[in-house]
Amino acid sequence: ISTTGLVHIYRAHGHDVAALSGIGISVRPGELVGLLGPSGAGKSTLLQLCGGLLTPSAGRLQVGEHNVATMTDTELDRMRSGDVGIVLQGAGRNLIPYLTPADNIRYAQQAAPDERDLPTPEAILELVGLGNHAATPLSQLTPGQVQLCAVAVGIATLPGLLLADEPTSQLDHHARDEVLAALRTINSETGMTVLLVTHDPEVAATLPRTITIRDGRIASEGRSGEEYAVV
Ligand code: ADP
Ligand code: ADP
Repeated sequence: ISTTGLVHIYRAHGHDVAALSGIGISVRPGELVGLLGPSGAGKSTLLQLCGGLLTPSAGRLQVGEHNVATMTDTELDRMRSGDVGIVLQGAGRNLIPYLTPADNIRYAQQAAPDERDLPTPEAILELVGLGNHAATPLSQLTPGQVQLCAVAVGIATLPGLLLADEPTSQLDHHARDEVLAALRTINSETGMTVLLVTHDPEVAATLPRTITIRDGRIASEGRSGEEYAVV
């Protein structure tokens, strides 16, 4: 991910809300990066821009080989179903409730635009630690397992980039650590770039690098625990 001067303005009830006021970040291939900041800072907006769910109002946004700011809706659709995985905030929003974990993954894989060699649903579930639950109805999974399943669907097509919005919020510590471990395993075993939104300082402290935004601007960035202020 590489952005310069990235601006996003929401038009709401006849007035403008500047959610991002000129963001410049760079995430290298294979990195695991945390996106931090208080509520309303613009974290979700930045994540959705990177995933092609929103179009920037101004600025440059490069995601892999894609120049996202200038892409058509069709091109964005294709990017989302193959090259960028997104786990939105709120557990299981990318899951079809009446399908098993394996069938949810199969469904996501069918939408992949190109003929690439994809791992089996079972192998994807193994990667996130749900190897024993390929056929378990979603209704019988714990909240932590549902979130792991959401992550598994996000990586079903082995995209180069996984975007996850607060994947550990509303989970107990045990489940939170399992989801974090899954993201770490995905990052280290497949080389997938992972950008993770979190407001949990304990999660942030375990990440190799974090970027903090505040009021739509970069507030600080650096290695966890030694962030420097960006003026
Ligand atoms: P742009 O102006 O192109 O949007 P930034 O202002 O975010 O980009 O700066 C680009 C990079 O330079 C940042 O990712 C950051 O690593 C570094 N940088 C910016 N300001 C500072 C600063 N005050 N001190 C140290 N590094 C900085
Ligand atoms: P965060 O994820 O850091 O909590 P968001 O990106 O959700 O921040 O929001 C950034 C700002 O944009 C906030 O002021 C929020 O109220 C505003 N905002 C977010 N979504 C919309 C929307 N659909 N319409 C209008 N304003 C929005």
